[in-house]
Amino acid sequence: MHFERLAQHSTALIGCLAWLPLSVWIMACVHWMIGGDIDGLTGFGGIAVALGLGYEAINPPVPQLAPMTVIAVFITVVMFPFVRSAMDKKALRNIDIDELVKAYNSLSMRPDNVLAKIKIARVLWDLGVCGHAIRIVESQLPHMPPRFFGEDIHMLKRWHMMKLEARFFSPISCTECQTSNEAGLVYCRQCGSAFLIDFVKGRVIGTRLGKKLIASWTALVAILIGIPAAEAMPPVASIPAILAMMVVAVLIVYFAFRDTTSGVAT
Ligand SMILES: [Zn+2]
Repeated sequence: MHFERLAQHSTALIGCLAWLPLSVWIMACVHWMIGGDIDGLTGFGGIAVALGLGYEAINPPVPQLAPMTVIAVFITVVMFPFVRSAMDKKALRNIDIDELVKAYNSLSMRPDNVLAKIKIARVLWDLGVCGHAIRIVESQLPHMPPRFFGEDIHMLKRWHMMKLEARFFSPISCTECQTSNEAGLVYCRQCGSAFLIDFVKGRVIGTRLGKKLIASWTALVAILIGIPAAEAMPPVASIPAILAMMVVAVLIVYFAFRDTTSGVAT
């Protein structure tokens, strides 16, 4: 009698505790969906699985499920900081790319705009295109009187002190005409396109990490919780239910991980 009550209490406690990380998770998914960081399918999938997990934590349909629920919630807690940091990085990179496009716009209005070129270099540096950033600022040095550009000249000195490897200064191919453009150029020397914008956009593809993590989590939790729940059903229903869940899990992961070489993350 005592033991049963204790078991009931602990289930209720686990259920309530589970809702803390789950509600943080659900709010974050809503936030990322509104911000356009993840698509609706991934977002709703993540939220639906979290709601299901929360429901099972409070009302486990079968007793065997309780440990699975604890494991699934634990995975959520462990994974959340990684997903959030991937999302934050992606958001920051998108801001950087916006800044880069703005700087190019001001440069196109006034081609001798030294400030715009320095701005381009600063953003490139932040995005890891460091060698080209250095060469662009260097190319502007003759137009940078120390009285007005002291801070930028100091920044260039700091960049030089990093002693970058030669690979950072490798030429970058223009996506429009395939011309190889050495570090220091802002526009393609052949066709005049803003090849660096295309280049940094291409590099952002790697930031689909957050979406991949969410999809993997959704699939993993669906299997962890869904399969034991389905096993409790009569075999006629449980086998198709398990198969369907595995197919859905594989599809979610497939869609998150495919198409990593083309297109640009936005
Ligand atoms: Zn070109």
